[in-house]
Amino acid sequence: MHELSLADGMLKTILDAAEKEKAKKVKLIKLEMGEILLVNADQLTFCFDVISKDTIAEGAKLEIKFLKPRVHCNKCEKEFTISSGKDFPILHMICECGSNDVAVLSGREFNIKSIVIEED
Ligand SMILES: [Zn+2]
Repeated sequence: MHELSLADGMLKTILDAAEKEKAKKVKLIKLEMGEILLVNADQLTFCFDVISKDTIAEGAKLEIKFLKPRVHCNKCEKEFTISSGKDFPILHMICECGSNDVAVLSGREFNIKSIVIEED
């Protein structure tokens, strides 16, 4: 499962960072995610809750901001943002000039923007 491997990588990064800061507890995690990743926020939260049990990140809240993908049309050289709605954004990647020869510039991000910790 996609969300589980993301949650796993995220937990490792967060625990590393928290350890450096000598955190007692991780309270909040702010994330930015490109919509092309098609991450289900509820599933990600669920996976994170499960795997963070018995770590200092247990019970931390996830605040997820979704980033709209930016694409570039190779035909008319226009840059635009696509809006996924709830469907697969890939299906909507057609430029207004009618070309589907578009390159994805961004939208696959998975960034941990910041974490809020409780210090010792
Ligand atoms: Zn175009």
